Amino acid sequence: MTDPNVRRTKIIATLGPATDRREAMHALIEAGADVLRLNMSHGPAEKHAERTRMAREVAAEVGREVAVLFDLQGPKIRIEKFNGGAADLEPGAAFVLDAGNPGIPGDNGRVGVSYPDLPDDVKPGDVLLLDDGLVSMRVTRIDGRSIVCEVENGGRLSDRKGINLQGGGLSVSGLAEHDLPHIRLAAELEADYLAVSFASNAGDIERARELLRQAGSSASIMAKIERIEAITNLEEICDAADAVLVARGDLGVEIGDAELPGLQKRIIQTALNYNRVAATATQMMQSMIENPIPTRAEVLDVANAVIDGSDAVMLSAETAVGKHPATVVKAMNRICLGAERHFDRVGESARLNVRFQRIDQAIAMAAMFMAKHVSVQAIVALTESGSTAQWLSRVQSSVPIFALSPNVASRRRMALFRNVYPVAHQPDGQDMDQVIGEVLNLLYRKRHVRTGDRVIVTLGDHLGDQGGTNTLRLLQIGAEGAAENQSELELG
Ligand code: PGA
Ligand code: MN
Repeated sequence: MTDPNVRRTKIIATLGPATDRREAMHALIEAGADVLRLNMSHGPAEKHAERTRMAREVAAEVGREVAVLFDLQGPKIRIEKFNGGAADLEPGAAFVLDAGNPGIPGDNGRVGVSYPDLPDDVKPGDVLLLDDGLVSMRVTRIDGRSIVCEVENGGRLSDRKGINLQGGGLSVSGLAEHDLPHIRLAAELEADYLAVSFASNAGDIERARELLRQAGSSASIMAKIERIEAITNLEEICDAADAVLVARGDLGVEIGDAELPGLQKRIIQTALNYNRVAATATQMMQSMIENPIPTRAEVLDVANAVIDGSDAVMLSAETAVGKHPATVVKAMNRICLGAERHFDRVGESARLNVRFQRIDQAIAMAAMFMAKHVSVQAIVALTESGSTAQWLSRVQSSVPIFALSPNVASRRRMALFRNVYPVAHQPDGQDMDQVIGEVLNLLYRKRHVRTGDRVIVTLGDHLGDQGGTNTLRLLQIGAEGAAENQSELELG
C-alpha cells in the first residue's frame, strides 16, 4: 500500500559527541535515521569503533536496518595549531602560511601548514579560503616554504581549519596516507559504505575499492563530489562508484556558491543516469545546530534536494554536535514527506531507448514499466545482493519496493536506496510458488500489503544466486495474505 507516512527519501545522520549517549542514539534511529555516518576527520579510531558498535546494537533494539557509512578524511589541507587555539585576522594585514615549520604554534601573523608542497601549488594572486570560506586571503608572494598572503575577509581562525584554493586545483590525489588505517578500520567494523573524500577521478575510486577488498570488506563506495576535477571527471567517477554525494561544503568553496544549485542537479542526474545512488549533503539544516526549528530556506533546500531526485539527504554537525539531534531528523523526515506528497515524479521515459546489459536490470525495468501502467500497491524483490532493488529504485515511482534478502549486509546497503524497504527473509519453500506465497504472507503479516492489493514480484528461479533475477509475476493478495493469480485486470 502507498502509505502517506512512509518516507521514500533516506536520511543520513552523522554521529558525534551529541549522539554518544545511548538514549540519544536511540532517539536518532527511532526518529528515522537510515544511515549513520562516522566522520574520520574528527576523533580517534576507538571512538569510531565504539560508536559503530553502539549504533548496531541500538538499531537491533529499534528493529530497523541501518547502514554505517565511514567517511574518509581524504587529502584535505589544513592549518596547524595556534598558540591559544585561535587567532584574529585583520583585513589588509599580512599573514603567512608556513609549510616549513608546521610544528611552531601560530599567532596573528602566521600559522603552520601540514602539507609541505603547498607553496608549489599556489602562485601570487591566488585566493585561499579557510574554514569553508569564512576567512579568505590573497597570495602576495612565495618565500621558500612560506606563503605570504594579504587577508581579505578577516575574522577568527581556529586550530586545524581546512584550506581550499578558489577555483580548485590543489594537486593532491583522492586518498591520503592517513586514510589507509581508516579503510582497514571500516573493513574490521563491517562498514556498509566507504565515502572517498576529494575524489578526482575514477582511479581514486578504484584504488579505494582495491584497498577495501584487500582488507576483506565488501562495502559499497560513495564518491564525494567536492572539487573541480571531480566535476570535470563526473561521468567516469559515477561509473566507478556505487553512490555519489553532492558535498556542497567544499564544492561551494572551490567552485563558488553561485554554481552550486546547477551542479547539484547535474550531479544527481548524472548519478541516476549511471544507475548510481545520489545523496545531497552539508548545511541542510544548519540553523538547527542551535534552534529547535529550521529556517524556511532550509525547509526549501531539503525539499528541493528531494525534488532533484536525491536518494538521501545528509545531516552533519546538526546531529554530530548540535543541540537537537533527534528533533532535526524528525524535521527532515517531515519535510521529505511533504516534498514527496507534492512532487511525485512519474513518467520517466529516458530508459525507453536503453539496451539492457543484464537480465536482472531488464526484469527490474520491466517491473517499473508495468508499475506505471497497471495500478499496483507494492513491488516485492527477492534479492540476494540487493542489485535488483537498486535497479528498481533508479526509476522514480511512488510504489514502495520491499526488498527481501537473507543477507544482512545487502539489507543494510539497501537502507540508502530511495523507496526501498529492506526486509529479512530466508526462503525455505522448495518451488517458486511456495516461496512467493511465503513472502507475500510475511508482508501481509507485517501489514505492508492488504487483501486486494496488486503486487509485482521479481525473483530468480535459482534462489540464492547473486544477480539471478529473471522472473516477474503480477499477483493479487487474497484473503489472509494468500497469493492469487489474476486472470484479468479490471479496466479503468
Ligand atoms: P565534509 O564533506 O563534511 O567531510 O567536509 C562534505 C562537504 O564538503 O560538503
Ligand atoms: Mn568536504
